[in-house]
Amino acid sequence: MSIVLHVDGPRWRAHLDRTLATQTGLVPVVKGNGYGFGSGLLTAESERLAGHAGVDLLAVGTYREATAALAGFSADVLVLEPYRPSLHGGLAVLAEPALVHTVTASADVHDLHTRVPNARVVAEGLTSMNRHGAHVDDYADLLAAAGAGLLGGTLHLPLGSGHLTEVSEWLTQFPAIGTWLLSHVSSAELGRLRTAYPGVTLRPRVGTALWLGEPTALTVRADVLDVRPVASGNRAGYRGRSMGAGHLVVVSGGTAHGVAMDSPSSVATLRQRAIVLAEGALEAAGRVRSPFSLRHSGGDPDAAAPLWFVEPPHMQVSLVHVPRGTAPPAIGDQLDVRVRLTTFWADDVVLSSPDSRH
Ligand SMILES: *Cc1c(COP(=O)(O)O)cnc(C)c1O
Repeated sequence: MSIVLHVDGPRWRAHLDRTLATQTGLVPVVKGNGYGFGSGLLTAESERLAGHAGVDLLAVGTYREATAALAGFSADVLVLEPYRPSLHGGLAVLAEPALVHTVTASADVHDLHTRVPNARVVAEGLTSMNRHGAHVDDYADLLAAAGAGLLGGTLHLPLGSGHLTEVSEWLTQFPAIGTWLLSHVSSAELGRLRTAYPGVTLRPRVGTALWLGEPTALTVRADVLDVRPVASGNRAGYRGRSMGAGHLVVVSGGTAHGVAMDSPSSVATLRQRAIVLAEGALEAAGRVRSPFSLRHSGGDPDAAAPLWFVEPPHMQVSLVHVPRGTAPPAIGDQLDVRVRLTTFWADDVVLSSPDSRH
């Protein structure tokens, strides 16, 4: 049947409220797979937050995403990809008055203004992230080109801390800019910057720490579709992999959902490297730990027994093995699933309300 993201609504919304209350001017980011919730749900949630927490700007990744966001969000929508005449010049969405464009080159702003005379823009500066942005030497020209349509500056920084110097340089060099949108600057860094630049409005753009910042409110569970006892040496799967004694379990959730799909590794610490090496060695030996685990009813999720794949996941289902000595689940039971929500596509998302809480 399904692999489902269950959201403890009251707990999740309490976290959203807390985050918005502590991060003044926060701009929620909704893009890609909608952080596992789907962009529709997060756009609706942003609209709810616009009503009760004053969210007045929502950021999306692309112009394509902007069309859907504008339909569901009643205040302004910022597009994070920079406006490029050759890519975006013909889009009908350009003229939407609620749209705020990101620009990185004077020529692009001139082009935009010939198509949409009053287009509002933010001017992106190139940071050490080295993705999009005008070089600091070209930035004054970009600001001049933006003219009266300029809402502010924008900087996208790498993950981690240590951004104070880099951000301070921009703020110092361009004192006429009253508002900056900043990505990946911590609350502590924002606090210090606000103290140092009291006349400037600093607005953090946040996706992950907002939507996924309360992991205890989020669980993914998958339906057990089939369970069969197996003897040692029995084979299963497309590749006829041999199993130990126990039970073979067929469970919802496969590559189509992003189950067990890693994004290119961003292994940072020695410990993470050791884990990757160890898992790689097991994988080479045909043993791959699955993200599915078996929790006995009412059990602690942290004590759930991890299960091993019989073979790599299929499009819609996975084959996992429950060893002898462990009570197998029944058809219709659910397994817990550990997923990276930024690369996950649920069949369904269930948001509990206070009265449905258990
Ligand atoms: C994706 C993105 C964000 C949000 O990043 P998170 O790590 O999810 O908070 C902010 N700014 C820009 C420019 C982005 O592309």
